[in-house]
Amino acid sequence: KTGLFLGNRYESTAAASDASDPPVEKYEYQAEVSRLMDLIVNSLYSNKEVFLRELISNASDALDKLRFLSVTDQGLLKDAVDLDIRIQTDKDNGIITITDSGIGMTRQELIDCLGTIAQSGTAKFLKSLKESKDAGADSNLIGQFGVGFYSAFLVSDRVVVSTKSPKSDKQYLWEGEANSSAYTIREETDPQNLIPRGTRLTLYLKRDDKGFAHPERIEKLVKNYSQFVSFPIYTWQEKG
Ligand code: ADP
Ligand code: MG
Repeated sequence: KTGLFLGNRYESTAAASDASDPPVEKYEYQAEVSRLMDLIVNSLYSNKEVFLRELISNASDALDKLRFLSVTDQGLLKDAVDLDIRIQTDKDNGIITITDSGIGMTRQELIDCLGTIAQSGTAKFLKSLKESKDAGADSNLIGQFGVGFYSAFLVSDRVVVSTKSPKSDKQYLWEGEANSSAYTIREETDPQNLIPRGTRLTLYLKRDDKGFAHPERIEKLVKNYSQFVSFPIYTWQEKG
């Protein structure tokens, strides 16, 4: 075990990898997160396509934040990349990547945002769930509050988030699996994966959900959601 013990990190797998690789650090989700993930998967299995709306809205929020903060801090735009959202599908391998050039996340923000339930909206949501009695009400409530990032696990076995904040000179990789109580964080060092700014989500689709990586399907869903998004959304497919 190496380094500082921050948050609820309980294991470091540094020894297992090459000595020159940055350590992979494993963290447990806050209990409420695990509960929320179970709820999402159990109440929305017939409404799986909401994942795309949630992830596009996060990308759009991240771009909005960048645009807003750059009014008082021009330096945030120093990496002159366009403000947009790019969705790439690889139907042969059942992979979807969603890339935005928004505000990104620092290492600590990854832990705070994708490992705990910090926002009051989600906390309220969980409270309402406790008060509701049946599963039908659960899915209505989920619709009302929005389920956010964890909806990625409706269709994915594994989710990788690679993110670069203008506040940090490093890019970080967050990795989580469906039905797991833990996630990992490590530094992104592969030069091929480095992005100037923003966030790239890679969804490794479940066997039965690989159909979402078909370009026609994604394009149709994107068309439905993009009318509410004020940034361009581009879609393209991996050549087989
Ligand atoms: P919400 O969007 O309601 O805050 P989510 O579960 O969708 O809840 O996302 C949780 C948090 O994770 C967001 O508030 C944001 O801080 C962070 N986040 C998620 N996706 C991105 C992204 N693409 N870029 C930057 N931050 C993100
Ligand atoms: Mg969201």
